[in-house]
Amino acid sequence: MIKYNLKCKHKHEFESWFSDSKEFEKLKSKKMIECIFCKTKSIEKSIMAPNVLSQEQKQKDKKSIKYIKKIQKDLLKMRNFVEKNFEYVGNNFPREVRNVYYDKRKNKNIYGKATPEETQELEEEGIELTAIPWIDNKKN
Ligand SMILES: [Zn+2]
Repeated sequence: MIKYNLKCKHKHEFESWFSDSKEFEKLKSKKMIECIFCKTKSIEKSIMAPNVLSQEQKQKDKKSIKYIKKIQKDLLKMRNFVEKNFEYVGNNFPREVRNVYYDKRKNKNIYGKATPEETQELEEEGIELTAIPWIDNKKN
């Protein structure tokens, strides 16, 4: 089966399925295809959209999925590292990070949440932050 996007002379677009390209040509020459909107029989193919992915496309998709899975794994590793080595302060993050920044005696690694506004304020104070894409840990 092949799906064709069809267009009539009035630029109406619609989709139709044919068993193959020959069937389309045959029906068209017999004027058996008509626009579903205005019933004109002046129809042209616009873009062909085969319903079967090419082998090459399948290969590419597989590669992308593999790649994304690898990144997710790396992000999860990073998350685990942060959870082990950093202290979670949650929504108190902006306050805690200032404590660490302004009180030089304190030296601890913390992580937590900050809104975009809070992040901007902290940056204006000269506090550099690193945003980490936080990936869901499936084990939780
Ligand atoms: Zn039409």
